[in-house]
Amino acid sequence: MSAWIKRLLSSATNDDHQRTVQSLYADFGIHIVERDEKGSARPWNQHELELISDTARLLGREFYQPFLQHPLHLWIDQHPGGGGFGNGWLRIGEPGRDLSVLYRVFLHEATHASNEYRGWPYENEYCTCPGLDWRREGDTWVHPRQQGRPPEPGEWETLPVDARDVSVAPGEDLAEMVRYYVHSVRNERAWLWPLEKSQPPLYLWDTSPTRFVFVRDHFLKLPGDHAWYKGLPADVEARAAANLASNHS
Ligand SMILES: [Zn+2]
Repeated sequence: MSAWIKRLLSSATNDDHQRTVQSLYADFGIHIVERDEKGSARPWNQHELELISDTARLLGREFYQPFLQHPLHLWIDQHPGGGGFGNGWLRIGEPGRDLSVLYRVFLHEATHASNEYRGWPYENEYCTCPGLDWRREGDTWVHPRQQGRPPEPGEWETLPVDARDVSVAPGEDLAEMVRYYVHSVRNERAWLWPLEKSQPPLYLWDTSPTRFVFVRDHFLKLPGDHAWYKGLPADVEARAAANLASNHS
């Protein structure tokens, strides 16, 4: 390949990169960070940028709107492992070639971010609704059957994963709820471990309808024609709506 064709191709690639970075910022309030003073952040590739862009678009306006006022700084750490959100910064540990890592960590941590930017509506307005099961005792949130203990028998709505419960606090509960909601409506099971693979993909819709209706109608506020909108049988919808309406003014 001649040198000028190579230059032409690389400048076209660069243009795509810049365009996607700019639209993530302008459309979704997501500020892509590609370098930092410590040299921990690394540049993003086009597949990674597009994954975040597609995901933000599908999560919808209710989800990303707070970032438009207060940008979410998103960076990939060259050091692998986990991710975290705090003070407007969302870190994703080096995902290597596995885009599903990037996707899972983004969904989980950006949910924390969106919830926090909106003033924690889940904790403040919904946690004590029946079906969501959380209650506050003094300074701590407690859940009658979760928080790392083996599930207690009963009619709880919960998010059991790999035979243990992951919801150790309301914020984690919400982040997992969104992850499971998206996983089940997008049929992306392989991208969303850990989850109970011995169960049918939609089993959590049966066990935890209030959680799914909460994500659909309150946290994401998806319109009825959204690709991810899914309805439940009328009696189940009515029960979830009644759960969410009680305690909530
Ligand atoms: Zn978390």
